[in-house]
Amino acid sequence: MKADIHQQVQQWIACAGVEDVAGEGSASLQQHLLECPSCRDYADAASQMVQALRSVPFAADSNLVRSTQQRVRARAYQLQQERTRLQFVWMSCALVAFAAAVTTPFLWQGFRWLSEIVNVSTPVWQIGFAIFWISPSLVISVFLVARGIHLDHRNNTSTN
Ligand SMILES: [Zn+2]
Repeated sequence: MKADIHQQVQQWIACAGVEDVAGEGSASLQQHLLECPSCRDYADAASQMVQALRSVPFAADSNLVRSTQQRVRARAYQLQQERTRLQFVWMSCALVAFAAAVTTPFLWQGFRWLSEIVNVSTPVWQIGFAIFWISPSLVISVFLVARGIHLDHRNNTSTN
């Protein structure tokens, strides 16, 4: 039971330090340190270690600061490019959806009218309509993929 108290006190000291143990543990910690030379030595050693670590100055040299700033700027630029690309994709999708919703009924009527003039069977003109209807989406998809590859290639060459 007594070994558990030593372990707990040393764990408090290791985790929070003698000064920073809060609440109920603080009184029993102080009481134990008065009675137990082993834990008192442990607390002294721990506080000396903390003071020694705090006395070592740490300063980043100018090269580290400059390279860190460059990396942060590059990452911010990259995130902005990705945001711009996503906005372009969403705008394109909205534009295509709007254009398709507006023009599809007229196009359907136009293909029907044309099939009556040219005397083409219903499945043929409907397949023709489907091919004609889907081709803008395919063209825009190819354009977006090509643009994405182009932007990706440009980002890779600018960061390297
Ligand atoms: Zn002890």
